[in-house]
Amino acid sequence: MPVHSDVIHQAVKTKLAHRGVRIEDIAHIVYELQRVYHPQLMFSECVASVERVLSKREMQHALLVGMELDELAERKQLSSPLQELVEADEGLFGCDETLALGSVLSYGSIAVTTFGYLDKYKIGIIKKLDTKNSDHVHTFLDDLIASIAASAAGRIAHKYRDNEEKQGFSSF
Ligand code: MG
Repeated sequence: MPVHSDVIHQAVKTKLAHRGVRIEDIAHIVYELQRVYHPQLMFSECVASVERVLSKREMQHALLVGMELDELAERKQLSSPLQELVEADEGLFGCDETLALGSVLSYGSIAVTTFGYLDKYKIGIIKKLDTKNSDHVHTFLDDLIASIAASAAGRIAHKYRDNEEKQGFSSF
């Protein structure tokens, strides 16, 4: 029997909390990214946008896969040489970015370019996760958080344009 999407959604939220990431942490990144373009943007809109992205099945699956691999690497339960590759967060490994990028694609080019920006200029919780310490492995999670934030930012950019057009502020 297929797993109900509510079960998956809840598992993702529980796991994110367990891995030390709050929805608000991701929303802060979204706020930083978008407030320059939309000064009236409210933090609560960023939280709502992150929640919407997290309700997407593709994103949930990517998160479950990535967080599981991070945890297995933390417990030294992957087989060699994958264990060493994930544990070392080897720069040329690339599967972490590829998994995260896959989930961003459905949100359009703004989300994709924003993901690239966050990959380079890690901000907020991404920087915290990317900072290596001996106890934790966040090889996949830092990229996945960038993916959620970039997607939520892309959503907001499109939503604001839609609203402007509805209100007749469109230039065309
Ligand atoms: Mg990574």
